[in-house]
Amino acid sequence: MTKKVRVRFAPSPTGPLHMGGVRTALFNYLFAKKHNGVFILRIEDTDQTRYVEGAEDYIIESLKWCGLNVDEGVGMGGEFAPYRQSERKDIYIKYVKQLIDSGDAYYAFDTPEELDELRNKAESEGKIFAYDQHSRSQLNNSIALSKEETDKKLAENIPYVVRFKIPENEELVMNDIIRGVVKVNTSTLDDKVIFKSDGLPTYHLANIVDDHLMEISHVIRGEEWLPSMPLHILLYRALNFEAPEFAHLPLILKPVGKGKLSKRDGDKLGFPVFPLEWKSPEGEISSGYREEGYFPEAFINMLAFLGWNPGTEQEIFNMEELINSFSLERVGKAGARFDPEKTKWYNQQYLKTKTDNELALLYKPILEKNEISAELSLIEKVVGLVKERATFVNDLWEQSWFFFKTPEEYDEKTIKKRWKENTPELINTVGEILETVKDFSSIETENAVKAWIEKNELGFGPIMNPLRLALVGGSFGPHLFDIIEIIGKDETLKRIKLALEKIKK
Ligand code: GLU
Repeated sequence: MTKKVRVRFAPSPTGPLHMGGVRTALFNYLFAKKHNGVFILRIEDTDQTRYVEGAEDYIIESLKWCGLNVDEGVGMGGEFAPYRQSERKDIYIKYVKQLIDSGDAYYAFDTPEELDELRNKAESEGKIFAYDQHSRSQLNNSIALSKEETDKKLAENIPYVVRFKIPENEELVMNDIIRGVVKVNTSTLDDKVIFKSDGLPTYHLANIVDDHLMEISHVIRGEEWLPSMPLHILLYRALNFEAPEFAHLPLILKPVGKGKLSKRDGDKLGFPVFPLEWKSPEGEISSGYREEGYFPEAFINMLAFLGWNPGTEQEIFNMEELINSFSLERVGKAGARFDPEKTKWYNQQYLKTKTDNELALLYKPILEKNEISAELSLIEKVVGLVKERATFVNDLWEQSWFFFKTPEEYDEKTIKKRWKENTPELINTVGEILETVKDFSSIETENAVKAWIEKNELGFGPIMNPLRLALVGGSFGPHLFDIIEIIGKDETLKRIKLALEKIKK
């Protein structure tokens, strides 16, 4: 790559960032880092009617949580500041003028009511109205009007928009890194508005001007922008700008494999579609991966595989490995099916790789919420024993509460199945044996109990199952003697005594 790699993530603050948006940011980030390039955050807020309070902060916080550190842009500053389009208003005017002067754009005075009428009329005839090369000469614009008429309207401050004049009947041949050659005949395109009556450019113009001025080398964005590529290429040409390279990422599909995963799917289908929880200005709450207990590394690893694959069997990639392995050539064209179960699996894999200390620190506040204060060293031991069984840090409580709390209830089903006539006597003896064990380690207590079982040919089932019931309240938990070691002698004997009092068949 000869040109310096500079890529941008350019969201519009019209709501929370969908996970598809995070995937776009991630692929831009990976591409930038892989090529020692620059990752830019630009906020595209020229459509003021769609502006949503809090969305920009949400975007910034999401990128931070995901570890997608911005090199330049909103919140960071940089050589090409400002990076918020609403602060760049004055910059665009010059280019609008340039396009009008060169004949590539024109003033259009049609009122919204007139356009609605044209749309309705076309619809009633089973057609679709388009403002394009076929209709423009009959409409209320500077192409159809004489120069004097146009100047008069401008002098009278009649509201207008500026439209881009699509060249007629030209076969455009474009290249997309992911899709290869894309061909479009310009006669199928309409004359998009590039500058609005409110004095702001539309997305299309602002996007092209900024990509040029910010020296963007590659535009990496979602497939939904592919239909805009011809217009963008034409705008670059008309402005005498060199166009960047384009890569349009495949859609993310619903878990059923059909249809685009939309913002509205989320909680409806039982999983978050947003990185962080979002509270809309109206107070509606949508769940987020962070609040659901996902590790950002797991979320990112999962997202990387939505459309990209390394070409090997390896599935677990940390950010550094992703950067090293990533290439746009390995991004597919086909839609990528989102799998919420696989997402959980990723989280479980990352949970397993956390050290006992890391997990203990994450678990401590959950214990505190349950009114348990325990030494970190003890928590570390416990998480070491149960982490294999957890998908989320929150699961640790369900998997290990009995290390910290004496059970107060005993599972009915287990009682029915495991607590026999002679069980109290046997468990009482186990208590006596354990009382004599000096070194109360897992090994020593196990040896003592097993030796007694073997000597008396009692069988393990009739002892170990009710003993577990007595110590944890059911038939769950890790190796029983590990539990015994951790809760210690006094607590073990206390629990046996309590169970003998409380469990009645
Ligand atoms: N502002 C556009 C969006 O919200 C950016 C599209 C692009 O990357 O060109 O997705």
